[in-house]
Amino acid sequence: MGGGAGTVTTTTLAQRLGANRFEIDEEESHIVVDQELCRTTGTGKAIIAVCPAGVYREQDNEILVDRAACLECGTCLAVAAPGALTWHYPRGGFGVSYREG
Ligand code: SF4
Repeated sequence: MGGGAGTVTTTTLAQRLGANRFEIDEEESHIVVDQELCRTTGTGKAIIAVCPAGVYREQDNEILVDRAACLECGTCLAVAAPGALTWHYPRGGFGVSYREG
């Protein structure tokens, strides 16, 4: 957002993401990975590479999911092999609330 008249300010991606609010559903995850299919189809590496929020990471040959950071963009679902990833929008009242565009 701008400052005074004639003033242009910029924000970094990290600053913009940091302005988001997340309500975490502790009872139900909106993301579930099939570890075997993620390994055998290459989906694990693909979703790590495409997720803009860094939700996925690999540790000890397992895909770990930090669903609290999910921006609900759907990119991971678009690149996942069939069945390797179960993804749906969080239940009502949970998930991300954007504060900046
Ligand atoms: Fe990452 Fe987007 Fe998938 Fe959420 S929906 S895990 S932000 S790629």
